[in-house]
Amino acid sequence: MARRRAANGQKVRTIRNSLALALTSAVLAGSSFAGRGVNSSQATAKSTTAAVSLAKPLSTRVVAYQIEATLIPREHRIKASETLDYKNLTGRPQQTFPFHLYLNAFQPQSTFMTEVRLYGTRGNGPGTPWAPRHFGSITVTKFEVEGQGDLTGKMEFIQPDDHNREDHTVFQVTLPKPIPAGASVVFHMDFEDVMPEVVERTGYTRDFYMVGQWFPKVGVWWKNQWNCHQFHATTEFFADFGTFDVKLTVPQDDFVGAGGDLITSQNHSDGTKTLTFHSEDVHDFSWTASPHYTLVEDSWNGSAGRVAIHLFMSPGNMSSAPRYLRATKGTLSLYDQWVGPYPYDRITIVDPPHGALDAGGMEYPTLITAGTTWWMPKGLRVPEVVVCHEFGHQYWYGMVATNEFEEAWLDEGINSYMEVKIMAALYGRDTSMLDFPFAQEGDAEAQRTSYLEIPAYDPLTRFAWQFFDDESYGGVTYGKTATMLLTLEKMIGEDKMRQAMHEYFMRYRFTHPTGEDFLKTLEDVTGQDLRWYFDQAAYGTNILDYEIADAHSDPVRWYQPVSGGRKPYRSYVTVHREGDFVFPVDVRVKFDDGSSTVEHWDGRDRWVRYTYEQGAQVETAEIDPDQKIVLDRNFFNNSYAVHGDDRATHKLLNIWVFANEWISALIAWIT
Ligand SMILES: [Zn+2]
Repeated sequence: MARRRAANGQKVRTIRNSLALALTSAVLAGSSFAGRGVNSSQATAKSTTAAVSLAKPLSTRVVAYQIEATLIPREHRIKASETLDYKNLTGRPQQTFPFHLYLNAFQPQSTFMTEVRLYGTRGNGPGTPWAPRHFGSITVTKFEVEGQGDLTGKMEFIQPDDHNREDHTVFQVTLPKPIPAGASVVFHMDFEDVMPEVVERTGYTRDFYMVGQWFPKVGVWWKNQWNCHQFHATTEFFADFGTFDVKLTVPQDDFVGAGGDLITSQNHSDGTKTLTFHSEDVHDFSWTASPHYTLVEDSWNGSAGRVAIHLFMSPGNMSSAPRYLRATKGTLSLYDQWVGPYPYDRITIVDPPHGALDAGGMEYPTLITAGTTWWMPKGLRVPEVVVCHEFGHQYWYGMVATNEFEEAWLDEGINSYMEVKIMAALYGRDTSMLDFPFAQEGDAEAQRTSYLEIPAYDPLTRFAWQFFDDESYGGVTYGKTATMLLTLEKMIGEDKMRQAMHEYFMRYRFTHPTGEDFLKTLEDVTGQDLRWYFDQAAYGTNILDYEIADAHSDPVRWYQPVSGGRKPYRSYVTVHREGDFVFPVDVRVKFDDGSSTVEHWDGRDRWVRYTYEQGAQVETAEIDPDQKIVLDRNFFNNSYAVHGDDRATHKLLNIWVFANEWISALIAWIT
C-alpha cells in the first residue's frame, strides 16, 4: 500500500485493485493533513495499521458510478461527465430507467419550491422569498447508452408524485432495446450543475462549497417497480448501493473533503488540481471544498478497525472542534457497543462557515455536515447533538438504507431515538440539550415537545411529502418516533430494546427494509405481540392522554354530627381517558395516614372510578407515577392533590417555554 504526499499537502493513498479492498479492512487512510491542519494528540501518536482482507462486498452492488467533475468557482458551476454501470438485478428485462436530478428542485416552479411556499421547510418558513442566487439546476447535455447510441433526445421529465409539469427533478429514458435480467447497462452522461447559494443542504457561500445531490442518479427498483420520487420540501433520499470513483478538479488552494478515500492528487499548471476519491458499499457521494478550512484529524478504534476522523473547520469556529470530536467519538463508541460495527475507514465532518448554516446538519455516506458559531456557549449542546444525530444516520440512512421518501420515520425517527439515548449517556439525561444553572433540558423532553406541536395530523407511516406541513413532518417523523420508542423501551426494558436495535441493524443492513421489518424485529426479540401498540403509535394518529378527573373523600356517616370524629371515609379516585389512544396505566393513590396503593387499569374504557373505604382520606392520585409513558400528551393532568397544588413544575413553565421554542427550532434545522 504505497503512500505519498501530494503537493497540496493532503496525504493520499493508492490502491492496487479497488475491488480487492474490502471496506472492513480498509486501510485507513490515516491522512495527516499538512498546511493549516491540526493534529490532535491521539492522531499524531498513532501510526496506521493496514489490515487488508479479501472479504466479500458488504452490500449488493447495483451501481458503479465514475464521475469526473470540474468546479468553476467564478461561475459557481460544475461541469462533469458520468459513467454509470447499472447491474440489472431486478429479475426481469428493463427498458425504461428513471433518474433523479435533485438540483432542479431549486427552481421557482418546482414541486420543492411550491411546497416551501405553501408550508415551509427546515429553516425557511412558508412564503420564503427565494432570491435568484438561491436557484440551482442540473442539465444533462448528453445521454448515451453503450451499444444503443446517443439517446439525449429520448430524455423526458416525469412527475410520478404530483403531475407538476414544471418539476424537472426526475427524468426517464426508454431504451431502444431492453436490458436482460442479470445483464449490465452502461450509461454515459455529460451534465452541468449551477450551484445555488447555499440552500437546503447544498450550494456555495463565498468560496465555500458543499456539493450534495449533484449528479444524475438512477432510481431504485423496489417492490417490483421503479422508485424514483420527485424532490420535495420534506423528502430526503433513497438509492442503491455500489461504488463511486470520483475525480474532482478544483483550485489548488482548496481543501477538499469527500465521502470517499482520497487516492491520488495531481496538480496542473493552470492552478487547479485533480483529486481522485473511491468509496464502496455506499449509495451516495458528496464533497466540500474551501480554501479556508482548518483540517483537524483524529481517529477512533472500534470493533471493525480504525476509523479516521477528518474534521474540516471553518474560520472562527475552532473552539467547537474539541466538542465535535468528543461527541463523534462518543457516538461511534456507543453505536459500536449497542447497535453494531461501523465498517468504513473514515468519517468526515464538515463545519460550514458563517452564513452557510443551511448546508449544516446533514448526512451523506461517511460525510456529515455539522454546525456551530464562534460564540457557542458550553451549555448549548448544538455542536454535540448535530454530530451525534448526523453520525447516527450512517447506520440508518447509510447502511440500513430505508426509503426516506416513503418511510422517513425509519431513518429520522430511529435515529432521533438513538440520539436521545447517546446524548443522555454522554451528557446526562436531563442536561443533554441545555445545561445552564438557570435552564436545563434533556433530549427526550425536546423530542417529546417537538412531537406535541402538531401531534394528530399524520401517522409516522405517511409518505414524507404527504404530511400536513413541514412542522407535522418534523414533529411526527423525528419527535413522535423517538417518543413512542422511548415509551416502548419502558414497556419492554432497556436491555430488550437495545437487543432489538442491534438485531434490526445486523439483520437488515444494506438491504432497504420496511417499517414492518422493523416492527416485526421488535416483536421477535421481545417475544411479545406488540401490534396493539404499533397500530396506534406508528399507524395511527390517536393522542395518548389520561387524567385524574377527580379525587376526594366523603365521611361514610356524613349524616352524623362532626363531634366524635368522622371516620371512616369513602374515597373516590376517577381516572379519565382523555385521548383515543388506549394504553394500560398505573395509578398511585396516597392517603393522609401515609399509606398508598397502586391500581393497574387496562385503560380501555373511557373512565374508571376506584372507591376505598377506610380511616384515612385520599391525599393525592397520580397516573404513571414512574413516568414511563412519555407519549402522554399532558403530564400536568396526571396528578391530582386534594389540598392545594403541588405541581411545582408550573413554576418552571416560562423557562420551559423559552427553552422548548429554542430547541424546537434547533431540531427543525437538523435533518
Ligand atoms: Zn436526520
